[in-house]
Amino acid sequence: MAPRIVIVGGVAAGMSAATRARRLNERSPITVLERGGYISFANCGLPYYLSGRISGAGNLLLATPEGVRSRYRIDARVRHEVTAIDRAAKRVEGFDHVGDRRFSAPYDKLILATGATPVVPPLPNADAPNVFSLRSMEDMQAIRRWLETDRPRHAVIVGAGFVGLEMAEALVDCGLEVTIVERAAAPLPALDPEMAGYVRDVLDEHDVRLLTGAGLVALHTEQGVVTEVEVDGGERVPADMVILSMGVRPNVALGEAAGLKVGDSGALAVDEYLRTSDPDIYAAGDAAEVVHRVTGQTMHIPLAGPANRLGRLAGEHAATGASARADRVLGTAILRIFDLAMGVTGLTAAAAAKAGIVADVAYVHPNHRAGYYPDTKQIHLKLVYEEATGRLLGAQAVGRAGVDKRLDVIATAIHFGGTVNDLASLDLAYAPQFSSAKDPVHEAGFVAQNQRSGLMPAIHPTNLNGQQLVDVRAPAEFAQGTLEGAVNIPLDELRDRLTELDPARPTVVFCQQGRRGYVAQRVLLQHGFGTVRNLKGGYTLAKRVRRPQC
Ligand code: FAD
Repeated sequence: MAPRIVIVGGVAAGMSAATRARRLNERSPITVLERGGYISFANCGLPYYLSGRISGAGNLLLATPEGVRSRYRIDARVRHEVTAIDRAAKRVEGFDHVGDRRFSAPYDKLILATGATPVVPPLPNADAPNVFSLRSMEDMQAIRRWLETDRPRHAVIVGAGFVGLEMAEALVDCGLEVTIVERAAAPLPALDPEMAGYVRDVLDEHDVRLLTGAGLVALHTEQGVVTEVEVDGGERVPADMVILSMGVRPNVALGEAAGLKVGDSGALAVDEYLRTSDPDIYAAGDAAEVVHRVTGQTMHIPLAGPANRLGRLAGEHAATGASARADRVLGTAILRIFDLAMGVTGLTAAAAAKAGIVADVAYVHPNHRAGYYPDTKQIHLKLVYEEATGRLLGAQAVGRAGVDKRLDVIATAIHFGGTVNDLASLDLAYAPQFSSAKDPVHEAGFVAQNQRSGLMPAIHPTNLNGQQLVDVRAPAEFAQGTLEGAVNIPLDELRDRLTELDPARPTVVFCQQGRRGYVAQRVLLQHGFGTVRNLKGGYTLAKRVRRPQC
């Protein structure tokens, strides 16, 4: 069996498909058609080249047409744009921008790895020469040219998602004053708002202005270039350049025009072997739907990991007629902005609610390694789990060290259907320079276990009306700020001052992070107090969620 394999799109999914196909089938003719000027480039590295952290654009090229020809005998043609699929004749039609002529390529198996395109709003002047998106090497080169030749001072980034935030850091590194405008009430919509709120702090520290609730309304120009960005509410922000990072849309036009099924998510529908509604045409990467591991729903999750892994499987199936089933996806993603890392795996609390899952959450704020070891940093970790069963649904983490490791451990646990009990009992590597004997992952598991078992009933800081509030921190901490109406009884004095409290009133105890609150709660409950709850996430979370986000 030596099917002719044609792949449209030569980056993450496309090149993973091509090289896997070759490793499994030495005889198949394999052709990759890429409309851009490069194959296998590192989109994810583009912001770091712009900032100068990665030197030499060549370092972003993971492969070249010449390289894959000599090593894999793959015919990779750049600047070859596929314009149509003739399913009856089993060939693709296109335009060769190098030779300036039309071409046609027959296939037995076709793989669509056409990726996604940044959203550009249908506004006048969105095509001005100083308005950019960032997806390809060519986009990156255009931004670089503008930075070098026009020496902009003010940049406006539209959209505070992953790419927008990475670009904010890159442009600050280039010496620009940066404003980010975001239509939602909080940045980084992939995280729950209170976790994404840490982004605001780090942006403030680096003098990046973040306007939330500020959708793009207009791009105002002078002499053909944008000079101001107008947002909801009428504010006009000065701009010498604009980066549009408002999300991406899957490139499905080619497949759709050929009659392939497009799913509800807007991406190409595929089966468990990445086959579209035509069994000889596969789709993978940002152009195709994936199945969410937790909800089982089909979704569009445009990330490099799934694109690489699923592209590889599509290549295998196309080349051999068999492969493992397509992975289900958790949407695990991470970002570092300045020195702060933040990421997510699985469902946020908001996503769980949207999926109709009754979920509870646990917050912990432990150190990323032993507190006594030098240069230890704090992690903020939020765990989302199914209330009835303790099944892990998702996690979010923010911190200056150790965030990636905790997200990956929890992602692995979710992958294998783990529960909060599993997290609490994981046998993880420990020495003081790496972790604590009770790792942040364990801590999150313990808190969730205690909440579920009834040992530590807990309450979210947005629900505090009518409660007797007891701040069990030290007076010095209390003096720096507390919740309105709270009395201060430090934990170590609590047993001697019980008469100052009303045991019949529903009571909420809190400390900075939740640990002392838990001990205080146990004391009160065993001294006849009827209803005592520990404040979820302690004062650390409360002051964040009770602060206006905008
Ligand atoms: P793409 O990489 O978009 O490749 C598709 C290719 O198909 C394109 O080169 C396109 O030119 C070509 N094509 C489309 N239509 C045609 C046609 N008709 N004919 C010929 N060729 C065609 N993900 C992460 O997980 N982590 C990160 O840190 C991360 N950072 C990112 C940073 C940036 C700046 C960007 C832009 C993306 C980032 N991503 C990240 C997302 C990740 O890059 C994508 O999910 C991944 O590249 C998708 O791979 P793909 O092969 O499906 O699509």
